[in-house]
Amino acid sequence: MQLIEISTRERTVMVDITGEVEQAVTASGIQEGICTVFVPHTTAGVTINENADPSVRRDILNKLAEFVPHNGRYNHTEGNADAHIKSSLMGSSIQVLVKDGRLAFGTWQGIFFCEFDGPRRRKAWVTVLPCK
Ligand code: ZN
Repeated sequence: MQLIEISTRERTVMVDITGEVEQAVTASGIQEGICTVFVPHTTAGVTINENADPSVRRDILNKLAEFVPHNGRYNHTEGNADAHIKSSLMGSSIQVLVKDGRLAFGTWQGIFFCEFDGPRRRKAWVTVLPCK
């Protein structure tokens, strides 16, 4: 298992971690398998989406903020209830198939660590299981 450390600089931001995940896949030496990225946080998430046009990331974050406003009415009183909800909406893990030792991504896909209560120091765990 490999650890990726991420320092986020804004309260909400999507950080492209595709390169770090690819390095972990290479380090595993596995040619055919399943790569899992798991985020051990309750106010952050991970997702796969377009990594070519940064406006896609902005649209995702803007729309999440519209659905789940930071200053909405919540029972959780730490001031980060929106971040918890966004974390569950995005999810805490993703899986990507590994083929020929690489992520079997389409042309425009990338992996994004989703910060919803930054800035903070964060972690993502990566593991690759072999399959036939
Ligand atoms: Zn909280």
